[in-house]
Amino acid sequence: MLEAVNVSVIYEGGFKALNGASVQLAAGTVTGLIGPNGAGKSTLFGVLAGAVRPVAGEVRLGGEIVTQHGPAWRARRGLARTFQLSRELASLTVLENVLVAQPHMRGENVLSLLWSRRAVRDEEDAAIDKARALLQRVDLWKLADAPAGTLSGGQKKLLEICRALMLDPRIVLMDEPSAGVNPTRIGEIVEFVQALRAEGTTFGLVEHNMGMVRLLCDHVYVLAEGQVLTEGRFDDVIANTEVASAYLGA
Ligand code: ADP
Ligand code: MG
Repeated sequence: MLEAVNVSVIYEGGFKALNGASVQLAAGTVTGLIGPNGAGKSTLFGVLAGAVRPVAGEVRLGGEIVTQHGPAWRARRGLARTFQLSRELASLTVLENVLVAQPHMRGENVLSLLWSRRAVRDEEDAAIDKARALLQRVDLWKLADAPAGTLSGGQKKLLEICRALMLDPRIVLMDEPSAGVNPTRIGEIVEFVQALRAEGTTFGLVEHNMGMVRLLCDHVYVLAEGQVLTEGRFDDVIANTEVASAYLGA
């Protein structure tokens, strides 16, 4: 479904963040990317999403080479990524946060529409219906008019996933969805992702929380110093003591 083949990334200053890394996200699965800080996990997600341009290697989406295409192009082909609630978005309501992801809501009128709920309702009924259905699934519709910044850490993550889902993606990349989430609420994110996978959505997951990786991931890659150290089923990967002690922080 989505793969990186022997990709290398050199940042300005000459630092080689990725050195010939290859990963495959199979359709309908959740693929985990784990490894120590600085291993290149987020960089690899950037390469997959089109935000980071590799100096070598290629990216394939549905078998097609897409290395030269940017994030917007890839998003139109069904590749979405969650992004953290920014300071600007925190002051918008929960509903507005989901609506900003709608492609035809982009453009000059977005802000004026956002500030006028009546105009939004008149012109964007379909988008609102879709947003409502998504928010109801994660029990956030009751908070539709609350500023997104007032949500709990876990609710923010669910909101970020809903925003990505507005684009009807086939693939969703999530970078550390457990960050800032109370451990007792991580189950809600796990359940939502499992439900979406059951409906056919493919996921890539960068995550430090090994409980979440174990529950969600069908396949795991361990990245270290810009290279894939090992890959396999979670249980097999952590059975590798070198991985467990040196790279999982376990
Ligand atoms: P991870 O997500 O596994 O923690 P990253 O992909 O964020 O790792 O970073 C890999 C390495 O690349 C780190 O050493 C980081 O400091 C460096 N790096 C990340 N982004 C940039 C950048 N924009 N410019 C220069 N170096 C970067
Ligand atoms: Mg990272």
